[in-house]
Amino acid sequence: MAIWIGIDDTDSKKGGCTTYVAAVLIRRLEKNGIKIIGYPRLIRLNPNCPYKTRGNAAIAVKADTDDIDMVKGIAIEVVEEYSELDEGAETGIALLPKEPDERLKKFYWRAVREIVPKEDAFKLAEDIGATIVYYEDGKGLVGALAAIGADLTPGKTYELIAHRTREYWGTVRKIDPKSVFEMDKATRPYTFDNVDYETGEIRIAPHTPCPVLLGIRGVDPEIVMKAFKMLKIYEPIEYVTVFETNQATDVHYQKLKIGELKHGVNAIVEGIVSQAPRLDIGGHVFFKLKDETGEIYCAAYEPTKSFREIVLQLIPGDEVVAYGAVKLKPQGLTLNLEKIGVKKLAKKIVVRPPICPACGKRMKSLGAGKGYRCRKCGLKVGVEAAERVEIPRSLKPGFYEVPPSARRHLTKPLELAL
Ligand code: ZN
Repeated sequence: MAIWIGIDDTDSKKGGCTTYVAAVLIRRLEKNGIKIIGYPRLIRLNPNCPYKTRGNAAIAVKADTDDIDMVKGIAIEVVEEYSELDEGAETGIALLPKEPDERLKKFYWRAVREIVPKEDAFKLAEDIGATIVYYEDGKGLVGALAAIGADLTPGKTYELIAHRTREYWGTVRKIDPKSVFEMDKATRPYTFDNVDYETGEIRIAPHTPCPVLLGIRGVDPEIVMKAFKMLKIYEPIEYVTVFETNQATDVHYQKLKIGELKHGVNAIVEGIVSQAPRLDIGGHVFFKLKDETGEIYCAAYEPTKSFREIVLQLIPGDEVVAYGAVKLKPQGLTLNLEKIGVKKLAKKIVVRPPICPACGKRMKSLGAGKGYRCRKCGLKVGVEAAERVEIPRSLKPGFYEVPPSARRHLTKPLELAL
């Protein structure tokens, strides 16, 4: 028999890290003679959750034992040592001495796509016979249960996480950036998000005072280990752990009509550009998208950098599929773009005065809707005589995405969509 252990909400805004709790938990179980079955899981939940700390990550491990009291004791011990309980972490621990059933899988899908109230977690734990331990109000139980129930059949990726020894926490990470670029060149697209070429920034190392030295994401466990070995690191490493994750799989997205959108969902919306993009103060780009059920603002914010140049080339009539988080903003519901598929381009037509049929000179407009007059011979013609010129579009059909620094954990990079 095996016991699933799920843990969530161990960190505060100040530091801490759920993956560190997982790394310690695994070693402590092993020290007590309990093996881990398969890879530990790092599960990201709905990134729009209003009370998330940072990445909204939960963890789960499967322990090869039937001694639930021992597992519970070890989990509590690790959480109480490393969770930021006195900084307001509302840690939840769930223990399940069997495989997750449909109810738990359904709960995961809700937690990754919606905002689930903690009352639902308490109710589910009772229904499925999970043992729970919680601190404060137990908000962490939502993620603890969802991590156990995570359905990775639609796709999964891996992340190798190296944790720092305690005396280095809060200090500058000693990783040779050149070795990160070299690793990226040698292993991408089997690894991803290592660097942001647009900003020149190293993406594997966080900037927070947390115990994570670095994380390497990739499509299989061997490649992330190979990539890790290519790095030049000048500080001691406490643990290296490879997690199985739902990161970069697009599982948070739902295909929705504009009329069905609401605050907090992550949506894939097909529609037609109904208002031309405009560049706003602060460098944000907005346009309107419509379908047969309604109209919504789409936004490419300043941090999306060169992605905005793509968006600015859209014109009314273009058919697109937009991916993003739906937020309620002063202007109304707004889709914060993460990816856009340009499916069909509208014709870009400019209207200009015609050539005078009598003397061959370019005519002059008499004002909007009033037709044209020749300055040389005085001939007048109606608006229908206007010359309509099709201007070639610079935008090409295809998919475009925000740079890695503006992409959220669950969003699949285009280079993985093979
Ligand atoms: Zn003329």
